[in-house]
Amino acid sequence: MEGEIRDVHDYPQAGVVFKDLGRLWSSPELNKRIVREACVRYQSNPSGLPDCIVGIESRGFIYAMAMAIALNVPFIPFRKKGKLPPPTRSVDYSLEYGQASMECALEAFPAGSKVLIHDDVLATGGTAGAAAQLVRKLDAEVWGFSFLLELEFLKGAIKLEREEPHAMLHTYLIIE
Ligand code: AMP
Repeated sequence: MEGEIRDVHDYPQAGVVFKDLGRLWSSPELNKRIVREACVRYQSNPSGLPDCIVGIESRGFIYAMAMAIALNVPFIPFRKKGKLPPPTRSVDYSLEYGQASMECALEAFPAGSKVLIHDDVLATGGTAGAAAQLVRKLDAEVWGFSFLLELEFLKGAIKLEREEPHAMLHTYLIIE
């Protein structure tokens, strides 16, 4: 599977090694394997399934939706500012360069829901951490995090474990 992830140097800006997942997404076998393994993992979890799966715009949508269909739970999009009709809830957060906002529908899920947050890549953890804040703003619980790829050297998992000590965290492929 690692062979299907293409490193693109200095994209989208100098110094960044962008992980291009295009080849992986185009493989029906790998798509099936990733979703099947996620299903086995969550279906065999002693605390049961999450109440819904959040996908972070935009590359987080891809497997979040596939997992939600396979597990028969709702898929909830967390989107960039201005993409969802009102009423919404939003959270502001810092990126490596600058600020961003993430939004979801005000009634995305009921208070007390157990929410699984999925994104494609875990880097510094800022984006997933902001999604967790938004879940808490809706009085729900971060049940877990799921990523396809973790860039371990950026220590995002350590940050998320500190912020959400009760949430499980699973990454399909860790890059040291
Ligand atoms: P972070 O907030 O630093 O954890 O960054 C995670 C978000 O940025 C995810 O939504 C990824 O899609 C994107 N991202 C960060 N670094 C990379 C990278 N090296 N390759 C691809 N996407 C990345």
